[in-house]
Amino acid sequence: MDDKIRIGVSSCLMGLGVRFDGNHKHFPWLTKELSKAYELQTFCPEVIMGLGVPRPAIGLYINEKSFELRRNKDLENLSEKALSAWQALSDELLQLDAFIFKSKSPSCGLNSAFYDKIDGDQTKKTHQKTDGFFVQFLKEIHPDCYLIDERSLKDDSQKGQFLDYLKSLQ
Ligand code: SF4
Repeated sequence: MDDKIRIGVSSCLMGLGVRFDGNHKHFPWLTKELSKAYELQTFCPEVIMGLGVPRPAIGLYINEKSFELRRNKDLENLSEKALSAWQALSDELLQLDAFIFKSKSPSCGLNSAFYDKIDGDQTKKTHQKTDGFFVQFLKEIHPDCYLIDERSLKDDSQKGQFLDYLKSLQ
């Protein structure tokens, strides 16, 4: 492997219209500044798992044992579909030094994804937050990857720590 510094980014932050409604959440600092110094690789976990654009909204749920990713309108469980699609990308993900996530998404939220309880076909709001389903997957397979979201990058101190980390890799 070469010694390039590679940073994964939630695709919608790079201005790509991959959200469930076809919109993006462009975070200009990434395309105007960070991309000049580092190699940024875009990933949309929900597109990768074949959900398409636009797509019905999905959500994060917790049953007795574990978290699940489900389509909100009919509660179809998409967890296995997601994990098998992402598993196929493991080699690429393992080469990343860092990942910049879109906050609040059920897939990409970094400790910012709301989840509901599910029991059979009954759901109940918890008003609690955790990592999105893809964040949980990435942490599992690549615990050394530096994770941050666009909200933290608006904070000078956290942004500075992230840039120091990237410099330390050079
Ligand atoms: S937050 Fe993640 S899953 Fe949602 S559109 Fe952006 S990249 Fe795709």
